[in-house]
Amino acid sequence: MKIIFLNVPGHGHVNPTLALVAELKQRGHHIIYYNNITFAASIQQSGAEFRPYPDPQPTAAALAEKASSLPQVSVWLLEQSQRLLPWLLEELHQESPDLVVFDSICLWGMQAAHLLSIPSVASITTFVTEGVKGVFTWQDGLALAGQAVTALPRLISQRRQLVRTYGPEVFPHSHIFPCIGDTNLVYTSREFQPETDFINDSFHFVGPSIDTAVREPAAFPWDKLENGRPLVYLSLGTIYHNKAAFYRMAFAALASHPAQFVLSAGRQTDITTLGPIPNNFIVRNFVPQLELLPRVDAFITHGGMNSINEGLYFGKPLVVVPQQLEQTINARQVARAGAGIVLGDRPPYGRIHAQELPHALTQVLEDVRYRQAAEAIGQSFRGAGGYRRAADIIEMAGVAQGETGGRLASL
Ligand code: UDP
Repeated sequence: MKIIFLNVPGHGHVNPTLALVAELKQRGHHIIYYNNITFAASIQQSGAEFRPYPDPQPTAAALAEKASSLPQVSVWLLEQSQRLLPWLLEELHQESPDLVVFDSICLWGMQAAHLLSIPSVASITTFVTEGVKGVFTWQDGLALAGQAVTALPRLISQRRQLVRTYGPEVFPHSHIFPCIGDTNLVYTSREFQPETDFINDSFHFVGPSIDTAVREPAAFPWDKLENGRPLVYLSLGTIYHNKAAFYRMAFAALASHPAQFVLSAGRQTDITTLGPIPNNFIVRNFVPQLELLPRVDAFITHGGMNSINEGLYFGKPLVVVPQQLEQTINARQVARAGAGIVLGDRPPYGRIHAQELPHALTQVLEDVRYRQAAEAIGQSFRGAGGYRRAADIIEMAGVAQGETGGRLASL
């Protein structure tokens, strides 16, 4: 099959597709993958033919800048769609793929596949939150409404413009996000996904798509890890990491903790500005997270879906300090499952008192129930089949849609 992947410039959205692409390539499929040029190396390494978006390309920095406001991200995505659709419709017309796989926020991918009636698969790297009840507090709602007020006029005018150009078919569903396809892949387990009526037979919960071999290699001083005391990994992910004040607070609060800590401070953080680094900390801009996680005893994370999935896949208890609403929902789901503790989940998210951190950490390290719950979720993840099952589902989706509906549901 010739399969076209369309994605947004975010590691959290790209990473789960890499193992899947490698698997599809190994099965003999031809994959063409579009993204910002900065993702070329990792995408090529997975075996896909990489193609950059036309200039000016959507950038990771632009996405990151909006990321703390879901309405602002939506406006940005609609603007990108406005700009990319004419090119993409022509490109897909020329390439005539058997299947298009788009990320669930890659609006232009969904719209182009739909307008050209190409069989499609959505790659959903988050929980399916549409229709989930009881996850938002009134404080979340108020914060979201505040953000929506400023974004709404642009959202409406962008939507109108797209409809004027391409007709109402450009928005085939009553909702915009998540963008869904004929078939939908979700990288978590059905057990861990919160209940919602939005999910139907087209959704397949394949668990985390994890394969260390296809990840960007990163140097790490393995010889500096000490035996005999707990090892704790701390990361705010690849978007929200430029948080010097948080890191300094963590240094002060955890310097006398008996554990050893590895901090991934993020590529844009100048580590020399963080002040003196305590002896029990190893600080790097980027670490090989998948290789490190099996060795740690606990993970302090911002609650990005990939980090949560990866931590729980290896059965590690979590302390989650969410930095925005989506991560807050993830964090609360972790707490509900008993696999970790949430801190700072009130808007404006991520604000905690220094002493909360060591306190929560000691709890998840000492109370074995957190680890047991994390291991149980990890078990459900492994049972979900990962990238191999995702590849099976994609192969089935490539067969004539009419024939596959029933067969896909049984996979
Ligand atoms: N990651 C990594 N090394 C690091 C920091 C992050 O490999 O030092 C990877 C991590 O394994 C995960 C992704 O980057 O797959 C972060 O995605 P997530 O959804 O957790 O957060 P985001 O970066 O999108 O906020």
